[in-house]
Amino acid sequence: MVDRVDCVVVGAGVVGLAVARALALAGREIMVLEAEDAIGTGTSSRNSEVIHAGIYYPQDSLKAMLCVRGKELLYRYCETRGVEHRRCGKLIVATSAEQVQQLHGIQAKAAANGVADLQWLQAAEAKALEPALHCKAALLSPSTGIVDSHGLMLSLQGDLENAGGMVVLHAALQAARILSDGILLTMVDGMQLHAATVVNAAGLNAPALARRFEGFAQQHVPEAFFAKGNYFTLTGRAPFRHLVYPVPEAAGLGVHLTLDLGGQAKFGPDVQWVDSARDLQVDGRRADTFYAEIRRYWPALKDGSLVSGYAGIRPKISGPGAPAADFWIQGPGQHGVPGVVQLFGIESPGLTSSLAIGEYVAAMLAR
Ligand SMILES: Cc1cc2nc3c(=O)[nH]c(=O)nc-3n(C[C@H](O)[C@H](O)[C@H](O)COP(=O)(O)OP(=O)(O)OC[C@H]3O[C@@H](n4cnc5c(N)ncnc54)[C@H](O)[C@@H]3O)c2cc1C
Repeated sequence: MVDRVDCVVVGAGVVGLAVARALALAGREIMVLEAEDAIGTGTSSRNSEVIHAGIYYPQDSLKAMLCVRGKELLYRYCETRGVEHRRCGKLIVATSAEQVQQLHGIQAKAAANGVADLQWLQAAEAKALEPALHCKAALLSPSTGIVDSHGLMLSLQGDLENAGGMVVLHAALQAARILSDGILLTMVDGMQLHAATVVNAAGLNAPALARRFEGFAQQHVPEAFFAKGNYFTLTGRAPFRHLVYPVPEAAGLGVHLTLDLGGQAKFGPDVQWVDSARDLQVDGRRADTFYAEIRRYWPALKDGSLVSGYAGIRPKISGPGAPAADFWIQGPGQHGVPGVVQLFGIESPGLTSSLAIGEYVAAMLAR
């Protein structure tokens, strides 16, 4: 006899937990299956912990919409639930005449996304805010902040459990079969479960897992690419109060300075395309490139002050050289399979967007 559950969410990262919470609050019976021995050990614990404003994304994209909505929901959530966070603001800095032109484009894109609070700063104004900074001009984003991502995930799990849901650890989903009355799930240990609804929030593993959904058309599963982002930590205190970002490069936001809630500064992530989602070792030799990039906006960075930190891998669905893809969130309306929602390519700003993604998926399944 196979156990039955209303709704299964695969993956207890910040997105899976936010989706599960939203569905539980909407009255659904929820079980979250997590392969590892704890929640949030994937990309959700290997990122910059920045609450993004919603500046860079193409107008009307899911990234733009869910980031702006997610930011509002997240600040409100953190305030009411006591999740540690700080609205510290960030500076996007132009260090060449060409980049000053690009800053104008960034400001226009932000406005189109509903982010109307960016302030243009001349070099002297930026220097007055951050004396150690070198730039030709800057944009100040006052609504950018930082959040304790683990505190957030624990709080989401608490909400889920209070609403009757549960997280099952050491529960790796191996495969699924689409049936006429739901989805039959087979775990790695052979256990089976019947669910009316399945949300695939398996992060880096989501496309590979979706390929093992028998009866799910493969044209609805994108190719997975992995773009590692390495971080280097600054020894000693940084002389900055704001996050500092260069004008973005191709596949990431450039080697930027972020602060954690304890005031520790780190630089990264860079972009290194890798073949495996498990390739998480930081290559110390990449520090040379970091020194060069950081010194464009912080010339006083001392030799020997960067130490290898950690790395995270972006769950990309567009490869090297291709434009960044939008979040790919597909429900029955897109792929035609009742009860299945697939989340692909939930890279940055996925942490910021998590509560909005939860809201979006709950609305998709309510229809
Ligand atoms: C370098 C880097 C920096 C970033 N910086 C930011 C930032 O500053 N701000 C921001 O908003 N976003 C940022 N992001 C994006 C953000 O971290 C992600 O969008 C978010 O963490 C994705 O969460 P998730 O739950 O989808 O995935 P994950 O956290 O990867 O969770 C997926 C979970 O699924 C589990 N799983 C996988 N396969 C199975 C299976 N078969 N069965 C059961 N469980 C399974 C995994 O163990 C994992 O726990 C960054 C990302 C990277 C890589």
